[in-house]
Amino acid sequence: AQHFLGRIQSHGELGAFVSLDADVTLTQARAADEKLSAGGAPALTGVPIAHKDIFVTTHFPTTAGSKILEGYRSPFDATVVRRLAEAGAVTLGKLSCDEFAMGSSNENVAVPAIGLDAATPVRNPWDASRIPGGSSGGSAAAVAARLAPAATGTDTGGSIRQPASFCGITGIKPTYGRASRYGMVAFASSLDQAGPMARSAEDCALLLSAMCGPDLDRDSTSIDRPAEDFSRNLNDSLEGLRIGVPKEFLGDGVAPGVRAAIDAALAEYEKLGARRVAITLPRTELSIPVYYILAPAEASSNLSRFDGVKFGHRAAKYKDLADMYAQTREEGFGDEVKRRIMIGTYVLSHGYYDAYYLQAQKVRRMIADDFQQAFKECDVIAGPAAPTVAWKIGEHGDDPVADYLADIFTLPGSLAGLPGMSLPVGFGEGNMPVGLQLIGNYFGEARLLNAAHRFQ
Ligand code: GLN
Repeated sequence: AQHFLGRIQSHGELGAFVSLDADVTLTQARAADEKLSAGGAPALTGVPIAHKDIFVTTHFPTTAGSKILEGYRSPFDATVVRRLAEAGAVTLGKLSCDEFAMGSSNENVAVPAIGLDAATPVRNPWDASRIPGGSSGGSAAAVAARLAPAATGTDTGGSIRQPASFCGITGIKPTYGRASRYGMVAFASSLDQAGPMARSAEDCALLLSAMCGPDLDRDSTSIDRPAEDFSRNLNDSLEGLRIGVPKEFLGDGVAPGVRAAIDAALAEYEKLGARRVAITLPRTELSIPVYYILAPAEASSNLSRFDGVKFGHRAAKYKDLADMYAQTREEGFGDEVKRRIMIGTYVLSHGYYDAYYLQAQKVRRMIADDFQQAFKECDVIAGPAAPTVAWKIGEHGDDPVADYLADIFTLPGSLAGLPGMSLPVGFGEGNMPVGLQLIGNYFGEARLLNAAHRFQ
């Protein structure tokens, strides 16, 4: 823990951490030392990890990257945080993320990182002029720069897989319902999932085993399946594994350097005994409009709780109650969050609901069905996690749609609730890391981790 706290201090310019408390961390570490010397301690005892600042924590403030939660401290720990602590992990601190996890670049940050005066985008440790990806960009940058051996992230439409890909680390999002959403600041509840981000599939398997498990009393979408040991078949042979490669995932929009790295990785898998199968996910393109209707719709509802009454920030000056709500939200939310609330409110409003929200729900079901069709021909699906490598900070300017389009390969799996991961397989444009995305069928996490581990 001391080693990593030192590295965090000396790499403040990355902007990865938004809250630290060395006393808390070192007290936990000392307690872990005692447990280790007493013997019989659980698997992660003493392992320092850091949490995306979207998980509520009692020992550290929680901002979700937003000014509206400034000064907020939760009276309870998120289930994922509690489960990792019970497995012995020591908390290093909290990591920067896009505000309310809305973003693909970690540029939508409203909270200053430790050691920096103003809120700034997190930097990619491979090239500080580039984004680390988002929304779990602080988590990916911290692991890639070795400021933490591992971190938690959340993935609503790609926020674990895409930053893992951009920073050359490994991350996995489990099947929807595997990890409890209790204590995760809600963005889009039918999509949000927690998962680990680490250096290897082996580390991810250890962490994921601790993080997942039923939490039926606290999360109504938690799945009633016993906790699993995801490390159990890491070393299984890949002989005969059918890897489906959707033709839509290697089309014209994919950067040549990314395509070359993915092709090389697939060739490597063939050497390991796997078979490459051509498949189709015909509604891949529709996942963008579908997601960017449904996620804002759910967000606009979830974010109504930030009204200046119950949590965090409240405007100093206002005329009456309605004005207090309006002023608080005007001051507290950033531009992207306001945009999503407006879109979400619009698509849910009377007269537009059927045309947008309901239609998007129908297409979401068709996208999920397309995957079940595909899984008749293959065991896992593979392709790039993102069409390009990490772009330059500011490159997408004021064009949010440029960010949205870059989510094309992660959104389909999210909409279907499937497990997905990204593992580093090479380098593309600008010598930046490229991640291979593996998507499994429901509850196929152990298979994905096995395939990733054998490659690594
Ligand atoms: N980039 C997507 C968005 O902005 C996904 C974010 C996420 O997975 N949290 O909504």
